[in-house]
Amino acid sequence: MKGIGLFGGTFNPLHNGHLKVAEDVRAQFQMEKIYFIPSALPPHKKRDNLADAGDRYQMIEFAISGYPKFDISDVEIQRKGLSYSIDTVRYFKKKFPSATCYLIVGMDAFLEVDTWKSYGTFFDLIPIIVMTRPAESAVSTLNPAEELESYIQAHVDQHYEFSPPTSCFVHPERQPVFLCHVTPMDISSTRIRNLIKQGKSITTMVPASVEKYIYKKGLYL
Ligand code: ATP
Repeated sequence: MKGIGLFGGTFNPLHNGHLKVAEDVRAQFQMEKIYFIPSALPPHKKRDNLADAGDRYQMIEFAISGYPKFDISDVEIQRKGLSYSIDTVRYFKKKFPSATCYLIVGMDAFLEVDTWKSYGTFFDLIPIIVMTRPAESAVSTLNPAEELESYIQAHVDQHYEFSPPTSCFVHPERQPVFLCHVTPMDISSTRIRNLIKQGKSITTMVPASVEKYIYKKGLYL
């Protein structure tokens, strides 16, 4: 059964961190494909300086052109309005009924999962892969497994238990939540947007094609 990763985000813009961690996850889970799924309107993010969905889509398309196992989906852009991940998960499960679909999220995003629409349903529908991510500011003294465990038990379901050999939170009836250790990439789209505003270089943080597109279109100024 083939594995398919669903990697949603604002991608405002896509950066080298996204590419590197997605490749780490793909390799560790031996996935056939990872779909990058840009949101039309993210419900949870401040929308200031949000580039047009078409521009964000185009930048992903350029960036992944050298990665045969990466693909892009415009399902959220076509749907218009607020982009709810639960609708996207249902769409892909229907589209690939014989594949195992995984939802891929960074630690920062997962730790807000209780604010997502129908969040409890994710844990019955799809295995989730949570990628480690360097914290913007050192707020927690817990290690990633401890941080995830305390969050899951407080906000999702007390019956999830950590299984160290598989680095996975397992539940007798519900879907597993994997903690995936990926290459620490201290890059964020926010930082890139700020650097552009300050007239500083972003060359080391985004693929050359994305940098070129940003300057050509005058994005994030
Ligand atoms: P912003 O700074 O605008 O909030 P971002 O860099 O977090 O953006 P998103 O498009 O929001 O980028 O990210 C999409 C997904 O990728 C989220 O689940 C996020 O946690 C994850 N992600 C982004 N950058 C990294 C990174 N450097 N390491 C691990 N996960 C990441």
